[in-house]
Amino acid sequence: MGNRGMEDMIPLVNKLQDAFSSIGQACNLDLPQIAVVGGQSAGKSSVLENFVGRDFLPRGSGIVTRRPLVLQLISSTAEWAEFLHCKGKKFTDFDEVRQEIEGETDRVTGANKGISPVPINLRVYSPNVLNLTLIDLPGITKVPVGDQPVDIEQQIRDMIMQFITRESCLILAVTPANTDLANSDALKLAKDVDPQGLRTIGVITKLDLMDEGTDARDVLENKLLPLRRGYIGVVNRSQKDIDGKKDIKAALDAERKFFLSHPSYRHMAEKMGTPRLQRCLNQELTNHIRDTLPAFRSKLQSQLLALDKEAEEYRGYRPDDPSRKTKQLLQMVQQFSVDFEKRIEGSGDQVDTVELSGGAKINRIFHERFPFELVKMECDEKEMRREISYAIKNIHGIRTGLFTPDMAFEAIVKKQVIKLKEPCVKCVDMVIQELINTVRQCSNKLDCFPMLREETERIVTSHIRDRESRAKDQVLLLIDIQLSYINTNHEDFIGFANAQQRTSQSNKSQSSAGNQVIRKGWLTINNISIMKGGAKEYWFVLTAESLSWFKDDEEKEKKYMLPLDNLKVRDVEKSFMSSKHIFCIFNTESRNVYKDNRTLELACDTQDDVDSWKSSLLRAGVYPEKTITVSAFFFFFF
Ligand code: GDP
Ligand code: MG
Repeated sequence: MGNRGMEDMIPLVNKLQDAFSSIGQACNLDLPQIAVVGGQSAGKSSVLENFVGRDFLPRGSGIVTRRPLVLQLISSTAEWAEFLHCKGKKFTDFDEVRQEIEGETDRVTGANKGISPVPINLRVYSPNVLNLTLIDLPGITKVPVGDQPVDIEQQIRDMIMQFITRESCLILAVTPANTDLANSDALKLAKDVDPQGLRTIGVITKLDLMDEGTDARDVLENKLLPLRRGYIGVVNRSQKDIDGKKDIKAALDAERKFFLSHPSYRHMAEKMGTPRLQRCLNQELTNHIRDTLPAFRSKLQSQLLALDKEAEEYRGYRPDDPSRKTKQLLQMVQQFSVDFEKRIEGSGDQVDTVELSGGAKINRIFHERFPFELVKMECDEKEMRREISYAIKNIHGIRTGLFTPDMAFEAIVKKQVIKLKEPCVKCVDMVIQELINTVRQCSNKLDCFPMLREETERIVTSHIRDRESRAKDQVLLLIDIQLSYINTNHEDFIGFANAQQRTSQSNKSQSSAGNQVIRKGWLTINNISIMKGGAKEYWFVLTAESLSWFKDDEEKEKKYMLPLDNLKVRDVEKSFMSSKHIFCIFNTESRNVYKDNRTLELACDTQDDVDSWKSSLLRAGVYPEKTITVSAFFFFFF
């Protein structure tokens, strides 16, 4: 190491690493780090153990590394290890280190061999090591091993991705020489996140296991799949060496001999081997930290500033100071009222794009739900004819009349107008409910002060309730006013001639606006039989004349077009199996409405959607079941 100041870089980042680990994920800063990735049995653990010169990592078949291991190597005269999760406990026996890793892995993943992204932090002090921090990750598995769930491969890939997608992460891609390099799991994964090979370092293991007469010279000379930081070849202990307890020092000597004597690698022996890899990583990481530090520093600084600002509010905060309390109280109440107004009146800043505000929902009640309720008012045709005839007869009494008496008209019309009361009152109810929901949403911010929240809600809600009864009185009064005097001279009064004209013209006037689009949107056709693929989503276009649906919203492939003549709408009870809200369209003459279906069942995600589709259909003249139109009503009468 040339530059002395630089040597402190890695320990500095180690400290940050520990600090971040102890506060959990909350602090989302990317620390410069090296992640070790590779297929199962590629030799990752062997490389790390060679760095330390000790056997301390769990071994065995199947997925052994099941949590990320953040391994901090620290150059020191004494040799010992320590875990962040039991700080202060010195490990000098490396068999115990292995047991602790195994125990700690199981503690989080359970003994069922699952995996977990929660890292284990291990620090090793040793005269053998150079300062270096590496993250040992689970090996990329191809086939589910033993009783592993099949999706474990994906889980492992996701976990590795979490680390290596960060720009600040160097990727140590470990690939065994006795497999096809082009198919290397590690290099493939690295290429996904670092396509230009800028932050990937290649490690080729098992050079000693290559077939006679083949070598990895092209790769190691960085000619085959070039990486900016190149490749380093290593030879670790074989399984036989490990079983025979060959110590690592002997293994490192053997490795050195291997490179010096191998005809293909002799010329670059100085650039190969574990010690060289360790030096190189130490240098790369130091440089990397140096490069990323300025950006890291400014990020940290701005986060510090933000936290400082937040802390400032609490500095000198005396919770018992009465003037402070009053001020805080007033501020919160004022905020509540501002929020409420924004949600009802609408506002330009901070628009919610996730759900409708209270104001927008009330708008829908006025312009979609309420008109729908009006049309839905039931009117039994036969019953009305009977009433009309009785009214006329009773007015004539013993006399036989010549003209239809106005009094009969008034009596019947009044009966109909009175029916408006119910939907009007219902409309008030719906609006009130929405206002109360809005109060609740706005008082969420007062959650830290449950009593204040409760009291605020109580006062505002009781005020709304008070206004509710006044509003209802007012609405009923308006209807009573209409009832008390029926002005047949009013320009809105359609009368017989107009009524007749409207009924006969209604079809014509519709066709002039026939191609005018009333509404578009996605709906699910619910009653396609399982044989034909079951429920399916289509893009629907409603005009005044027809309802068409398409494969998608580009409207290129039309699936069907349904003329609206003689169609009506009916609700369909929600099945407990489905989360969807359904309504259906049917033909009043009991004909099939769509292919061989009596009804066309349409499903939406919310009741709001259903209501608003129904109200659009209403505009297109598709009425809910059992209603008559105003003009039809006049028709009966005269
Ligand atoms: P990991 O799953 O990537 O951590 O792989 P390990 O380090 O546990 O190694 C898997 C197996 O390959 C072990 O039996 C090692 O002894 C063996 N192995 C690793 N590297 C080499 C090598 O360079 N040469 C030889 N002959 N065997 C190796
Ligand atoms: Mg391993």
